[in-house]
Amino acid sequence: MNDLRLMTEVGRDPTMNINWELVSHCQFKCSYCYFHPHPSQTDYVSVAQIVLKRLKSIEHDFKLTLLGGEPSLHPKFEETIRELSQIERLKKIYIVTNFEKKIEDWMKLSEFSHRLKIVISVHVEYPQENLVQKMIELQKFFSIDVVFNVHPDVKYLVKMKNLASEIEENLAETTTLSFMKIHHNSKGLEGYVDYPTEVESFFKEKNQRLKNSGRYEKVSVKIQDQWFEVPKFQLVDQNLNRFKGWSCDLSAYIIHYDGQVSEACRKKKQHILRTRFSPNPQICPLNQCVCDDYWAFPKTIQS
Ligand code: SF4
Ligand code: SF4
Repeated sequence: MNDLRLMTEVGRDPTMNINWELVSHCQFKCSYCYFHPHPSQTDYVSVAQIVLKRLKSIEHDFKLTLLGGEPSLHPKFEETIRELSQIERLKKIYIVTNFEKKIEDWMKLSEFSHRLKIVISVHVEYPQENLVQKMIELQKFFSIDVVFNVHPDVKYLVKMKNLASEIEENLAETTTLSFMKIHHNSKGLEGYVDYPTEVESFFKEKNQRLKNSGRYEKVSVKIQDQWFEVPKFQLVDQNLNRFKGWSCDLSAYIIHYDGQVSEACRKKKQHILRTRFSPNPQICPLNQCVCDDYWAFPKTIQS
């Protein structure tokens, strides 16, 4: 394979991507959480009605990711999924969860499983009973991804090693596993936090194993007029997820828990009723593209 530093285009999927923060709270309070979960007086049921109405009127195909806080804590979670699964333009629904709820609660969604992907985010600061057992059960009925957040504190290293091995041994071949670095969660700081050598080695070793097994998330890159599918972690490893000044066919929105909407990678925020959901290409203004879901949007280097 050619040198990744020579890539001139990245990403080939312009499908609109909407993230919806269903609620602002979470059972956890992870030290690295960029969202900073908190209770709110928001009337989530009314906000959901407005958002659902608006999503039904979008004229483009789109993907939707449900986030929080912890999205499964929404008071009408199941009903919301039911309504979403009836929207024709909505091609895939991803639910990003800490997977703290009981397996029985997840099984209530099984009739919509063909429309859903459950993305289980692993957070080692919290003890989670039967976590791997629950994953084994869930993957019988749903398509799942597991995102293992690699904690920068060496005191979690043994726990991370044991848990990662258990997950690797028990997940189906079709389940994608990724090990993610934590990025800075305070204003003014960009990029990933510094990792001590032992934890960095763990991260690299896990990615090497994934590479050998072929079970990893990929991104399309163009090098010398030829497209390649490369592991996402390779871009992080080589510090190449930096597209400042490239043109980016971004088409991504974030619906906040209170019904305000942000355009991804822009500071503008407005109410959902004033938002026109349509492609919003731009010249990349940021030093690092930390959200790997957005790597799929076509990006071209500018000479
Ligand atoms: S589980 Fe997710 S949303 Fe909740 S505190 Fe941790 S990182 Fe934040
Ligand atoms: S940071 Fe935003 S604008 Fe820049 S490449 Fe990534 S998605 Fe595109």
